[in-house]
Amino acid sequence: MQTTAGRLQLLGRLCNISCVPICKTLFCASTSLYYSNTKKLYSLCGVLLSTAEKYNLLDHVFHYICTGEFPAKNKWRKIVVNEISNHEKEVWKYKLSCRADLSRYSKIHTALSPHILYSMTLLYPELRKELQYVIRIGSRSKISKECKNCNTFANDYCHHVILNCVHLLSERDVFFSSLIDYLDVETYVKIDMMEEHDMLAFFLGAKNNDVDEITWHFTVIEFSKYLYKLKDILNHVW
Ligand SMILES: [Zn+2]
Repeated sequence: MQTTAGRLQLLGRLCNISCVPICKTLFCASTSLYYSNTKKLYSLCGVLLSTAEKYNLLDHVFHYICTGEFPAKNKWRKIVVNEISNHEKEVWKYKLSCRADLSRYSKIHTALSPHILYSMTLLYPELRKELQYVIRIGSRSKISKECKNCNTFANDYCHHVILNCVHLLSERDVFFSSLIDYLDVETYVKIDMMEEHDMLAFFLGAKNNDVDEITWHFTVIEFSKYLYKLKDILNHVW
């Protein structure tokens, strides 16, 4: 990404320098050649312009050719940083959307930024290892395998272990009982009425518009304690 930004900064510098130096003449000639050739020639100017094209910045160069106007250095830098960031986010979202096995992860991690639960590890340092374990399990892709605890074949093993495995009924009851004891009835019913896939994503950190921030914190914390118990019980197969 740094190389890309550097190339685009160099492009801006070439556009912004005065018309006297020979390098400006060469740049203008190479730019004209780039625009007039359907088969792009490999040259420094070609690399700079194809990079600009990749990040939707070629219109600025075209405007410069037509009018002689180009954004000043600081403004160009902001435009470059913004467009590279937008491009990287779009590429990330597209790649994630192509991975069916990461559909749960895409509900939890909705932005190209640090994981949403890292901020909770700062708020609750005494639960850091439990919350980090939630991040670890929530970041796993879906796998299909037989559950050694109940001999059931699970299409989504994590989902099965956390919400459905009969072998872990008592541990699961403790977790859901804590939600029943603390949450008001209306909020608990909202969680209970979620589709299981959405409920699991919510427990693993996904935000839900129907649930307030305090409830989300409490639920994730209680879930982290439950999940960490499963780690101790299932360490050999988890
Ligand atoms: Zn099972």
